[in-house]
Amino acid sequence: MMFRALVLENDGGFRATVKSVDAAQLPAADVTLAVSYATLNYKDGLAITNRGPVVRQWPMVAGVDGAGTVVASNHPDWQVGDLAVHNGWGAGETHWGCLAETARLKGDWLIRLPQALSLRQSMAIGTAGYTAMLCVLALEDHGLKPDAGEVLVTGASGGVGSVAIALLGRLGYTVVAATGRASEETYLKALGASSVMDRAMLASPGKALQKERWAGVVDAVGSHTLANALAQTRYGGVVAACGLAQGMDLASTVMPFILRGVALVGIDSVMAPLSRRQRAWARIARDLDPVLLETMVQELPLDGAIDAAHALMDGRVRGRTLVKIGS
Ligand code: NDP
Repeated sequence: MMFRALVLENDGGFRATVKSVDAAQLPAADVTLAVSYATLNYKDGLAITNRGPVVRQWPMVAGVDGAGTVVASNHPDWQVGDLAVHNGWGAGETHWGCLAETARLKGDWLIRLPQALSLRQSMAIGTAGYTAMLCVLALEDHGLKPDAGEVLVTGASGGVGSVAIALLGRLGYTVVAATGRASEETYLKALGASSVMDRAMLASPGKALQKERWAGVVDAVGSHTLANALAQTRYGGVVAACGLAQGMDLASTVMPFILRGVALVGIDSVMAPLSRRQRAWARIARDLDPVLLETMVQELPLDGAIDAAHALMDGRVRGRTLVKIGS
């Protein structure tokens, strides 16, 4: 049996192509999924354009995320016909991923599709949206409340940023969206931002301690942006760091931590334990407005995913990219 997949190869030069693959080549794992929808995350963009060292073995089927129907299972928790969502766990990096009609994955990696969501919505959310929820949970777990003051979201027009704004806005927070795209002000305010700031104000090296402003921060950008966000966080505030869109460096000092008691919480979605994933997805199902979610999404067929990955890496994509694969 053959299935179509976005395959990354690196013999005699890098190639990304959508082509037919023999199902006999699928990796060993205990659940086979007929993929209905996948998505493009930042990491997929890096892998498909070969702009970052994401892929660890070749050839690789791309796709960190997928959602679909179980068509074969040797795992006690999964039966044929079950609807499942997959995020991370090295798919598209060390294990064949979900930008494909068929994916073979470990049953221990999958979560059950929340009742309130469709397969399509689960991939409109994807790792980016689930990571945004992990960030919001980190702020809440630190004790942040909506009346504490302004919350900064960086990388605002991107996938993580858009979902974070929609979640925080709905929960009653006063959200400031930092973006390089002034043209997206209307979009960001419709999602739930109270105001929009130019990301350039955070992008250059700054003082170790600056005027206190943020009660909380969701940072998808890293580098000087994260350093400045820390330096501007109010006494006792909390910063959730999940991304590196500006860079992986962090030239900061201990001053925000030891003089203002600021907390920096690292967010990882890839290896997060099942219980944390289930908690995040349950909260997404409760707190993400489906109407707002739809405003973030552009939908493509599998054949459009390679061009879309280049657009994502060039900063030309707003919100989330959904890839329709099966029925
Ligand atoms: P997107 O490409 O959708 O969004 C990234 C956004 O960052 C852009 O839309 C842009 O927003 C902003 N940005 C881009 N370049 C720069 C720059 N040079 N300086 C400042 N801002 C910039 O990606 P995602 O939202 O999906 O992911 C965001 C980050 O989070 C990525 O680094 C990704 O690797 C990371 N991530 C981490 C996860 C984890 O488990 N820790 C999981 C998922 C993502 P604007 O145009 O509004 O300025």
